[in-house]
Amino acid sequence: MLDILDIRTLSFTTMVFSFIYGVGLIVYSVNHRKFAGISMIGIAFLVLSLGLLLLSLRHFVSDLFSVIIANTLQFLATIMVYEGLIRFRQANITWGKYVAACLLCLMVLSFYYYTYNKPDVNARMIALAISFSLEYLLISYALFYRTKQSGGAANTFLGLMFLLLSVSYALRAIVTLGEAELIDFMDAGFIHAVSLMSLQMMVLFTSFSVLWIASNELEKELREQARIDPLTLAYNRRALEDVANVEISRVIRNKHSLSIIMCDIDHFKDFNDEHGHQVGDKVLVDFCSILKSNVREHDFIARYGGEEFLVLLPETNLQKALAIAEKLRTKICQHRMAIRRNRAVSITASFGVAGYQQGMTDWRLIVKAADQALYQAKNAGRNKVMAEKIRLEKK
Ligand code: GH3
Ligand code: MG
Ligand code: MG
Repeated sequence: MLDILDIRTLSFTTMVFSFIYGVGLIVYSVNHRKFAGISMIGIAFLVLSLGLLLLSLRHFVSDLFSVIIANTLQFLATIMVYEGLIRFRQANITWGKYVAACLLCLMVLSFYYYTYNKPDVNARMIALAISFSLEYLLISYALFYRTKQSGGAANTFLGLMFLLLSVSYALRAIVTLGEAELIDFMDAGFIHAVSLMSLQMMVLFTSFSVLWIASNELEKELREQARIDPLTLAYNRRALEDVANVEISRVIRNKHSLSIIMCDIDHFKDFNDEHGHQVGDKVLVDFCSILKSNVREHDFIARYGGEEFLVLLPETNLQKALAIAEKLRTKICQHRMAIRRNRAVSITASFGVAGYQQGMTDWRLIVKAADQALYQAKNAGRNKVMAEKIRLEKK
């Protein structure tokens, strides 16, 4: 059945296909500017559709357009897809573009030679198939190349698809090698029809997978946003629940230590009354960034309440946590926060610290003890660090 597929019709439908997908991706990229490379892939599909338009005009326009330029545009489109995917995935493969440029030169030169110097349809098709096979292999490599953006299943799917296309073009080259000499490409049989269809697959799967990966990224971003307090950019209570549950099971399993510091800005209500709520907001942001810049990267800071923050310190015993809390207290009271031009103020905060004790199974007990210590710090005059031992209930 496949050998009766008409090459001209196939190139025409593939052209319409890539045009529609090209425009679609460009529109998508305009609305989603955070994703690099999608517009490049969209333009690549428009270039591909132009190449296919010229190909389907074989015998109606000169060989220069329907052979040389048509195929050059198709190959150029593939290189642009590669470049677009590299940008989209932020893959740092510098040598790839040189390989692609060499392949483009080789393809164009051999096409020119086998069209004008020694006309040979088979040789042209072999040159084209080898170039495409290698270019698709390069794209597949770029997709499997490890980057920050994992892409998940969609990425693996697309990588495998390009690998498959690379093999199909390699087969096309081998089959053409053993075939009788073709007089006209428009009569080339089954394997050539398949490779035109594979261009359709390339357009379809690339668009589909890129949008799939982009939607995964957006979902991840939304999930992350739902865990962050929008004012201070500290984590919120929801994130705290997740992290603390993981940390407590790790501590129980590995018999490591874990401590929690609760801190609360002193007399913040009065501060707001004196300077206004907006200045108060700015102070909260500054306060949080002082906390962040004075703890380790893997320590976890959450906004526990209005002006109350929680610092979770994995692998830190009570003694070390007390020293960290003391350091934070000093940094905060020494810091001059600019609230208006020529006006800076200082604030103080009180700290309560508690550490994990063997036999505990719930991290909330540490929070409760740290909260009690914070209460004591407030009662002792504020701007102080206090610790509290956790009282485990005997069964
Ligand atoms: P203490 O030293 O006992 O902690 O006194 P305090 O005034 O800090 O404590 P209180 O609980 O009485 O008041 C907390 C204040 O924190 C009241 C509220 O206006 C302020 N606050 C809570 N969330 C925000 C916020 O997002 N922005 C601003 N500007 N203020 C906030
Ligand atoms: Mg307070
Ligand atoms: Mg409070």
